[in-house]
Amino acid sequence: MSDATLTRSGGGMSLTTKIMIAMGAGIVTGLIFNTLQSDFIDTHIVGGFFAMVGTMFVNALKMLVVPLVFFSLICGVTGIGDIRVLGRVGGKSFALYLFTTACAIGMAIILASLIGPGTGFQMEGIDTSGVTGREAPSVWQVFANIVPTNPIAAFANGEMLQVIFYTVMLGVAILMLGDASKSFIEGCTYMNNLMMKVVGLVMAFAPYGVFALIAKTFAEQGIGLFLPVLGYVITLVLALFLHMFGTLSILLKLLSGLNPVTFMAKMRPAQIFAFSTASSNATIPVTYRTVTERVGVDKGVASFCIPFGATINMDGTAIMQGVATVFLANVYGIELGLGGYITVIGMAILASIGTAGVPGVGLVMLTMVLTQVGLPIEGIAIILGVDRLMDMIRTAVNITGDAVVTTIVAKSEGKADMAIFDNPEAGVIHGNEEAIVAAAPR
Ligand code: ASP
Repeated sequence: MSDATLTRSGGGMSLTTKIMIAMGAGIVTGLIFNTLQSDFIDTHIVGGFFAMVGTMFVNALKMLVVPLVFFSLICGVTGIGDIRVLGRVGGKSFALYLFTTACAIGMAIILASLIGPGTGFQMEGIDTSGVTGREAPSVWQVFANIVPTNPIAAFANGEMLQVIFYTVMLGVAILMLGDASKSFIEGCTYMNNLMMKVVGLVMAFAPYGVFALIAKTFAEQGIGLFLPVLGYVITLVLALFLHMFGTLSILLKLLSGLNPVTFMAKMRPAQIFAFSTASSNATIPVTYRTVTERVGVDKGVASFCIPFGATINMDGTAIMQGVATVFLANVYGIELGLGGYITVIGMAILASIGTAGVPGVGLVMLTMVLTQVGLPIEGIAIILGVDRLMDMIRTAVNITGDAVVTTIVAKSEGKADMAIFDNPEAGVIHGNEEAIVAAAPR
């Protein structure tokens, strides 16, 4: 794809501005509809029209994920060309993903212990029936499951770790075949460019999709849900922001020398996509596009690190688990002790590797963590009501963590383009119409 198609300037509001306006309008509309309590609005507008538009938007994003990851990863592996470099990129990103998740949950536990949400909480009136736990997978199971028995099933079910494993193996074999692979690689490059055009088309629809998703969430979630668990919500949001603007920004500065303020500004559209869809997986096309076109990360590195991170790296989710565990331990007056907290850290990291970035998965993972440290899983009912909004915020943190690690790895390999990073206009789409024109065949 020619860069010019994505770096258009002039001509109307940027897509980011439109998406942000849509987000604000969605919040206001949702809150108004929430207070109106009208059956017609609830059934036909919120549960009908908004649900339809929002679902179409999320489905359209999901529909791009598997083909985009497949073709961009084939191009990435063959583009990197050297199996040792590939191994280094894989090793560095894996280590950094684990490290950032450990920092996230460690900080969350310390912060929650200092603030102490949940002490003196009244359990009356909370229905705890219907909350069921999930067994934690063993480390061995998590790693064994990376190898698919049937690649078609892995692709069809969107099992990202299996898709990545199979595609990287295929990429390495393609390299080993040498010249015989030339036309196949050309075909994949074409398909990759084609998929990026489709990403452009779906992004043009984003303001409407974001508006519908956010209006629906806020219409369904009244402010009343937040009051009983305000301590939990405030501690969690504080920890999420501290991680994003503290830990991740400092790591980015220290390990890559890049300016975190510029970086975060460029990440904003991807964060809004993550916020409105609550799915790191569905956001992969946008995170990939943002780090390559806006931040300047090499496509080869991004094609591996972004889907890998969306699957194994969930800093925001780990933070939620840390804060929720401390909160519930306080609610039930159970002392966890150092051993308990270390178990929580280990479990949260493992659960984050073993589960996909889809809405609500953090809560399922929390059942594993609570079971492991002997806290009653029914406690999850207390925070259930506010989880959707918390999910939206932590997903934005999750994908920011993926992008930060990807950028650090790319910079350390000399595969980040500073001219793109330093150019505020790089990769900006101006106006939906232009995005569609940009995506048109030429
Ligand atoms: N929704 C989150 C994600 O997709 C996972 C979670 O915390 O539930 O990254």
